[in-house]
Amino acid sequence: MHDRQALDAIYAHVQPLLGQGRVADYIPELAHVPREQFGMAIVKLDGEVLQVGAAEQRFSIQSISKLFALVLALQSEGEALWQRVGREPSGTPFNSLVQLEAEGGKPRNPFINAGALVVTDVLCSRFATPENALVGLMRRLSGNAALDYNLKVAQSERRHSDRNAAMAHFIASFGRLANPVDRVLDAYCSQCSIEMNCVELARAALLLAQHGSVPHSGERLLTPSLAKRISALMLTCGTYDAAGDFAFRVGLPAKSGVGGGIVALIPGRCGICVWSPGLDETGNSLAGTAALEMFTTLTERSIF
Ligand code: GLU
Repeated sequence: MHDRQALDAIYAHVQPLLGQGRVADYIPELAHVPREQFGMAIVKLDGEVLQVGAAEQRFSIQSISKLFALVLALQSEGEALWQRVGREPSGTPFNSLVQLEAEGGKPRNPFINAGALVVTDVLCSRFATPENALVGLMRRLSGNAALDYNLKVAQSERRHSDRNAAMAHFIASFGRLANPVDRVLDAYCSQCSIEMNCVELARAALLLAQHGSVPHSGERLLTPSLAKRISALMLTCGTYDAAGDFAFRVGLPAKSGVGGGIVALIPGRCGICVWSPGLDETGNSLAGTAALEMFTTLTERSIF
């Protein structure tokens, strides 16, 4: 089936799912987001955009920011980054502390919170204002100079960040943070609060679909090898502790966030983003995961 037909079929199919799932409410500002929304966009390497539903409605990208923060950290650290953060799936929830003690404070991968805090620490060393550096990257990748982070959401998360603070202090106790914990948490909460829509995120994912260069500008931001590593981590660690089931059902590298977004890609072909705020028990968008599963089934295009 063609992509356009698939999007229309998906939109009809997900309607009964849209009241289901839970909206993330541990960040109070996110608790108000109406659950019944759905949008999906595909942006191809030649720039063609296909979309359905609320694909131009901005949402809080949350953990999807971990993907792009990793791009910036790998640009400056290269392969040396793996001395500070691992690359194995954790099999534990995104905000878990349990593995840190056994592993000497080295987080399992950059897509769980512990790993993302170390990545943010790298950005705090590299940039005077890391949150602005990440917003700058997202503007360049999405082609939209107007997008920004949401101060209210950032402050709301920062006020309720005891768990991330505990994690950051624990990592710091092993001498594994170069910057003050408060600085790292401020930057982390700001980057999670960036707001983008499905079309913008699908376009941003073209960086990885095109193996490290930006299709609309031709700019190379990563070597093909580093781009491969990021996509591999998306497949193995990008959808919380459901990454195995997600790979089984969808078969695409993807990164999800508790705002209900999931960004995915087909290497050499397109970036994809789906958004629906109702989350399943693993924290992934319920309708979003169903939509991506249906997409790869109907189009017969996954990475396998
Ligand atoms: N800002 C969120 C947190 O650290 C991100 C969680 C997520 O999207 O997975 O709790």
